[in-house]
Amino acid sequence: MLTAWFSGAGRIDVREVDDPVIVDPLDVIVDITFAGICGSDLWGYRGLLNRPAGSTGHEFIGRVREIGRDVRSVVPGDSVIAPFVYSDGTCTECRRGLHSHCANVGRWGKEVSGAQAERIRVPYADATLVKLPWDSSDIDAELARKLVPLTDVFATGTHGAVLAGVGDGDVVAVVGDGAVGISAAIASARIGAERVILFGEQISRLSVAAEHGIETVLITRDDDVSERLRAINDDVLADRVIECVGLQSAFDGALSLVRPGGSMGFVGVPHGVDELAPMRIFDNETRIAGGVAPARHYLEQFVEDTAAGRLDVSTLIDSVLPFEEVAAGYEAMSSGSALKVVVSIASRETPTGR
Ligand SMILES: [Zn+2]
Repeated sequence: MLTAWFSGAGRIDVREVDDPVIVDPLDVIVDITFAGICGSDLWGYRGLLNRPAGSTGHEFIGRVREIGRDVRSVVPGDSVIAPFVYSDGTCTECRRGLHSHCANVGRWGKEVSGAQAERIRVPYADATLVKLPWDSSDIDAELARKLVPLTDVFATGTHGAVLAGVGDGDVVAVVGDGAVGISAAIASARIGAERVILFGEQISRLSVAAEHGIETVLITRDDDVSERLRAINDDVLADRVIECVGLQSAFDGALSLVRPGGSMGFVGVPHGVDELAPMRIFDNETRIAGGVAPARHYLEQFVEDTAAGRLDVSTLIDSVLPFEEVAAGYEAMSSGSALKVVVSIASRETPTGR
């Protein structure tokens, strides 16, 4: 099969590798139809993280090709979506809804091969995969733009809102205008926030959020964001703040937006965020929580809402490229000319199931 292959900073190509095979009775092999490129894929691509060479990607939808003998929830031919990590669905943490902390958690492109590929092996398939209510042949690029963000960025943004404790009537401030930040703003509005204000540095990205009815504030790195918020919010800070960048400056800015007794969630993976002054938390009575989204916990509801027309995050994807142009997709996201890219993967072989 063909897979996108990372071979060092700035180097992605498509190459031939061995097909994945079933190794455990709970495994499923999926023919991937659409795969996303994630902001986190770019850390290695930009040389900011020392990532080993190999297949890459962790966001996908596809069609079941082959099932292990103990798989009960899907049959060959079914359309499926997967969260950005797999999990067993049975351990203590999974039963608590914290699938990202599963005792048997694993990542595509790490414990198993990556998702920007023609096929993938899915461990614990009954627990990991969510069946889609569409026939695979009916999932076109337009529908894929609504579905692929649910695997990771929209789940991560939603988790930020949950960690921040967003509820009815809250004023919510979101720091970061990437796909996760925009997702956190959309999720906060869905949960019932009265007012959602997104702070970001790129006008093109803020305009995507504005399409969803989100208020936006264009900032520069040197801005005092708390002053900007006070200026538009009756001199008051935010009830809930969601930090979606992961850099010290964004973290400090986000903390400065929390009203006394308010709370903050952070889902930007911290890179060099070393300072969290206890007195700052103490003086402001701030509650703070961060973590990796249990995407599987949210995924069924997202799919149901998308099918019912209550959720449409297709604006997060600005292009759907053919698989052979995956390197151009990485470059477009790395240069900032694209917010998020999906690749369309048409397997060269017909599925064995039907
Ligand atoms: Zn588990």
